[in-house]
Amino acid sequence: MAALFPRPPVSGIYIHIPFCASRCIYCDFYSTTLRNKAPQYVEALIREMDERKAFLRTPVRTIYFGGGTPSQLGPSHIATLLRALSSRFDLSHCEEITLEANPEDFIDGTWPLPSPSQPSLAAPSPLFAPPVPVAAKFGCQASPSQPSMAASSPLFAPPVSVAAKFGCQASPSQPSLAAPSSPSITRLSLGVQTLVDSELRLLHRRHNAAHVREAVHLIRNAGITNLSLDLMYGLPTQTLASWEYSIDEVLKLRPEHISAYNLSVEPDTRLHTLVQKGELTPCDDETCLQMAALLRTKLNAAGFEQYEISNFSLPGFHSRHNSSYWEPTPYLGLGPGAHSYDGHNRRSWNAPDVSSYLKGIRHEEFEILTDLDLYNERVMLGLRTARGIDLHDLESILSESSSFSSLRAIIDSLIHRNLLQLHQDRLSLTPSGLSLADEVIRELMFV
Ligand code: SF4
Repeated sequence: MAALFPRPPVSGIYIHIPFCASRCIYCDFYSTTLRNKAPQYVEALIREMDERKAFLRTPVRTIYFGGGTPSQLGPSHIATLLRALSSRFDLSHCEEITLEANPEDFIDGTWPLPSPSQPSLAAPSPLFAPPVPVAAKFGCQASPSQPSMAASSPLFAPPVSVAAKFGCQASPSQPSLAAPSSPSITRLSLGVQTLVDSELRLLHRRHNAAHVREAVHLIRNAGITNLSLDLMYGLPTQTLASWEYSIDEVLKLRPEHISAYNLSVEPDTRLHTLVQKGELTPCDDETCLQMAALLRTKLNAAGFEQYEISNFSLPGFHSRHNSSYWEPTPYLGLGPGAHSYDGHNRRSWNAPDVSSYLKGIRHEEFEILTDLDLYNERVMLGLRTARGIDLHDLESILSESSSFSSLRAIIDSLIHRNLLQLHQDRLSLTPSGLSLADEVIRELMFV
């Protein structure tokens, strides 16, 4: 398999922050409301960094603080973790550092944002890059013919693609986006879900629509120019009209990236119990398909590219970290419940147990992926992306099991039904295939 998936030259780090102020009714992510354990938790994470710093043998391209609610940890703890990362890993190629956050944390003082007029509000360590114009930072000027989106608010650490947008590259003498000594957050991902207050209350979210608008205002004032907003559809009581309202209101906030997920009712959640009792009813499949189609239409019209089934971005603002999950990029997951992948055929995960983790006990489990596992994973993840999957990759994986000829027949049939398309040996979903993605993927997977 080494020949199939040569080790890529970069890797990613995921850091799980398992704290939430309260539990949302649909959530089955691993999190706890015990935020008073934050200082010990940060120490435990640093201990794990020490134990596992040899895991990644290539420079880190992306770092992602996910949860839980990472913003609950507050800026000084995040700054400590960033410093710890920079002294243990090679961040010289780091392009993107994302922090997941909830709107209320920017309003209730958990996370005071620096503003251009009040730089002293900045976190103890400058978590966010200083407010220098993007073009100046990269030693060039935007031309009037180039898009003004980044240039109009050039106060925050831009992704590398912004530099490319201005037609130049940072030179070795200029500060890198995440110099090892001072890595900064370059991207915020805000959990919005819906802009309808009754729907937010039903989900037991702590914020309301006004909090979202205020948080985005504060975030923009702080000079943050790479903002992602998360939405959910298929919610109980949600209608096509209320979903359209949420999309329109989110677009007014002018994010660079939007993720939108179809609600799924997971076992062991409060939502599951309420649905079982008949007290709540999620939207039916047909309505969910209409909601997905409406989302695509509206976001495409607003200039967003759908680069993955649930993810849309303005040009150049796709999530580099998430994209590495869809390709065989190695990543190190730190924290209870976090998964790691060696970029080859070994996947491991920490037991989701905060109490043991705080005591320095980390139970790790792992699996070795077979060729068929790798094939299935490649189909399942790759086909969700606009880039699709390389047919030669699939052929190489399946060549020894002589299953490729039967696969080819299935592919041809899906192409004939206008669900798949093949361009330059890359296989991807057609617009009709997008609506039936799960079905198409199931047909292509080997059990
Ligand atoms: S949805 Fe997010 S904020 Fe809500 S409980 Fe889950 S992780 Fe916490």
